[in-house]
Amino acid sequence: MLFRQLFEPLSSTYTYLLGCERTGQAVLIDPVITMIERDLGEVHRLGLTLAWSVDTHIHADHITAARELKQRAGSRIAAPAPDRLPCADLGLEEGRPFEVGSVQLHPLHTPGHTDGHFAYRQDDRVFTGDALLIDGCGRTDFQNGDADALYRSVREKLFTLPGETLVYPAHDYQGRRVSSVAQEQGRNPRLGGDRTLEEFRAIMAGLNLPYPKFIDYAVPGNRQCGVCPDDVPEDLREYCGPMAQSPQG
Ligand code: FE
Repeated sequence: MLFRQLFEPLSSTYTYLLGCERTGQAVLIDPVITMIERDLGEVHRLGLTLAWSVDTHIHADHITAARELKQRAGSRIAAPAPDRLPCADLGLEEGRPFEVGSVQLHPLHTPGHTDGHFAYRQDDRVFTGDALLIDGCGRTDFQNGDADALYRSVREKLFTLPGETLVYPAHDYQGRRVSSVAQEQGRNPRLGGDRTLEEFRAIMAGLNLPYPKFIDYAVPGNRQCGVCPDDVPEDLREYCGPMAQSPQG
């Protein structure tokens, strides 16, 4: 399998490119609309054809490239089934492996950051989305977030994978790229060690995070698989990509 971890700096998002060397088919996990040229360039440079894009959840901090990729590269859109997106070509469900050539993704429903959130295990890696970050986790105060659900998702579904499983998160704000289940189990300050549900609830309730500045545009845009809404204010236009930044529109 060909594998690349790609970074998007505005929202500190990691996009993952997985390619099947036998069929030449590729899948992008959590592609970002601003990075579409870079990502398609990487797919082509590796001699692959983009067959699918997959999102871990409905993002609040960036616009998915799923729809643009479908238009530009003819890829299909897979998304968590619980989100019931009419624009998706396939709704992913736990227990039903998703195959792109010989690359097999095993969807794991991991609610808590959002209610429809999925992680994807692939061989000895797991793409954890915002359910589990390196030494952290996604916030639980929007999009039907639920600290109790996130605690269970991480402790019962992700931490029960083999310890050597590599953890690839959807974000890192400090340049860290990869962790492992054993490392997060051992030292994740929110969810690792013997942290109790009560302690986790208190940590999440006490974060006092600011209102997510792009959420009111990203969520409706991502419910359409990646449309930049017309009413995005000037200071947030860069989230919509280079074309949208042009004063000519
Ligand atoms: Fe998120």
